[in-house]
Amino acid sequence: MFKLFGGKKDAVTPDAEATETATPGQEQAAEAPSEAPRAGLFSRMKHAVSRTRETLSAKIDDLVALTRTVDEKTLGDLESVLLTSDLGVQTTAIILAAIRERARHQAIEGGGELRQLLKAELRAILDAPPRPVLTAETPVVTFLVGVNGTGKTTSAGKLAAWYRAQNRSVLLCAADTFRAAAIEQLDIWATRSGVEMIKTRQGGDPAAVLYDAASASKARGIDELIVDTAGRLHTKSGLMDELEKMRRTAAKLIPGAPHEVLLVMDATTGQNGLTQARQFTQSAGVTGIILTKLDGTAKGGIAVAIARELNLPVRFVGVGEKMGDLLEFSSTDFVNSLLG
Ligand code: GDP
Repeated sequence: MFKLFGGKKDAVTPDAEATETATPGQEQAAEAPSEAPRAGLFSRMKHAVSRTRETLSAKIDDLVALTRTVDEKTLGDLESVLLTSDLGVQTTAIILAAIRERARHQAIEGGGELRQLLKAELRAILDAPPRPVLTAETPVVTFLVGVNGTGKTTSAGKLAAWYRAQNRSVLLCAADTFRAAAIEQLDIWATRSGVEMIKTRQGGDPAAVLYDAASASKARGIDELIVDTAGRLHTKSGLMDELEKMRRTAAKLIPGAPHEVLLVMDATTGQNGLTQARQFTQSAGVTGIILTKLDGTAKGGIAVAIARELNLPVRFVGVGEKMGDLLEFSSTDFVNSLLG
């Protein structure tokens, strides 16, 4: 199988290495996060977006407190507030147009109603992008793609733990063979979350390691195969070709794979990250977003801009550096966290 993908003779057999590093017994996910109740998830989301809320909600509170009837001046002020939390020019314009349209038909009675309308608009935008429809067939293959430093490897580890907490069996595939550090780092995450990992040496063929991981997933009856890929830049067509080869490899072994391609984006990069992401999504077949570092930014509005401008659902958010710091995204929790 190595020959098929141009692998070298001296390539370390991923399965052989995996045996060395495997963490036996998926039951041992000692550190895996327990299934948090809904209220817990909401308060964690609220905590994560506290910096964005400070900028957004406080200003909207001021606006709302002063507003009896909503006029053009109020809407102008609302526009600047939305722009400061990184919703972006286009998305802000769309929201404002919808609220103006509503005001044209029926006067908006005060700040409270304006807040409710804004929440409904934000939710509608966040819920609009289509999600891939997954069948019950396993293994489900998820690729994590994105630029280095966005939190890809960390998110792969957290996602493994998240699925373990849903009682899904998981196999991690270290296909970011560019950097030795990424393989080591993922190994640590695999151990922490009590899942097995397939890897090769640094510089090895990512498609070959994926081939072995996909075969192992089938043979072992794994539910979720999570693949960490190299931090490819859209401009490097070689890296995009490599991803394409990985897609073909996965599809050859597992029908419909990869079922999810999650682009990892760093929320702190705001609108710049969006520009980068746009180029990425065009060539990588991205189906959704993991938005990391939401805990460290006042630019959480970027989640809304992503949904609208990329037409992709935010699937998960990273809210810290620990294993349990990955939340499944809920538009209702997010909007309620931001605007109360
Ligand atoms: P990669 O190069 O994309 O694989 O990025 P890494 O997974 O190595 O992460 C880069 C840095 O971001 C590390 O220091 C992580 O601990 C940190 N990081 C990742 N996700 C989050 C997050 O959700 N919140 C915070 N605060 N830090 C994060």
